[in-house]
Amino acid sequence: MAAPKDYYKILEVGETADAAAIKASYRKLARKYHPDVSGKSGEERFKDINEAYEVLSNPAKRAEYDQLRRNFANRKARSQGPGYQRVSHEWDGFNAEDFGSIFEDLFTGSTATRATQRTRSAPEETVSVTLEQVMTGATVQLTVNQIKPCPVCHGTDPDCARCGGLGQVMEPQRFDVKIPAGVDDGTVLRVGEHARLKVQVAPHPRFARQHSDLVGRVTVSVPLAATGGEITVAPLVGDPVAVKIPPHTNQGKVLRLRGMGLPDRSTGKPGDLLLEVTLRFPEPFTEDDDRLYQDISALHHETGGDVHAPR
Ligand SMILES: [Zn+2]
Repeated sequence: MAAPKDYYKILEVGETADAAAIKASYRKLARKYHPDVSGKSGEERFKDINEAYEVLSNPAKRAEYDQLRRNFANRKARSQGPGYQRVSHEWDGFNAEDFGSIFEDLFTGSTATRATQRTRSAPEETVSVTLEQVMTGATVQLTVNQIKPCPVCHGTDPDCARCGGLGQVMEPQRFDVKIPAGVDDGTVLRVGEHARLKVQVAPHPRFARQHSDLVGRVTVSVPLAATGGEITVAPLVGDPVAVKIPPHTNQGKVLRLRGMGLPDRSTGKPGDLLLEVTLRFPEPFTEDDDRLYQDISALHHETGGDVHAPR
């Protein structure tokens, strides 16, 4: 049975070596076996060293390689009984060209789409969702690599070219990932066996989010704020709604529209929509307006002038 190349042995590092140790050893060996230095005799070795470094220096590739090694070791142990010595002896062989070709398929497969290649080098994907999608929930498609039984030999052929006798292959698989309504920014969802999807909530032009409440600023004209009345507001989703403005509404007053916020992630109970009033004079401000406001002003001795720290 074909054993995978032992990249750790090739790079002369232990299986727990950290990135710095791997890099240092790679540099030392690459100098030593560079064809310019060692000539033809070092060429194969030099190629192996570079192949090993390409895998072990990339955390995602290294993790997949380690997983395949474990699977292979388990398989050997099962098929050959106790005999750990024999297993590790097989590991010492560098003659597993067919595993190398599988590995190429896994990570550099020319038939792979751009999307799957992207997932290959990133163990955690990120998706950006809108506040509207937070309100309703959403489904996104994601393609990640999964360990699958070999579709050619189903684990029955030690000489199988597709799986190199491992009985398992890594294959891209498409998932429909459900983003739950009320999802928090930064939530990480599991996809398949070992992939993860991080959810980012994109900023919204009209509303900010405070847990399950939505917060926005709404303009109200000064005369309407004085007399009271009704304005029309477009909520995050759905049809515009009429909102009552009480008489004598001040700048900064917060209007609370119950149940028009985002659903709570765990209870599903909707939060509120909070609208902070910003007063605005009507435009255009006519001569009639000027005259009327002068009359109003004449009725009052209060001029304002109290100072407060900003909120
Ligand atoms: Zn197979």
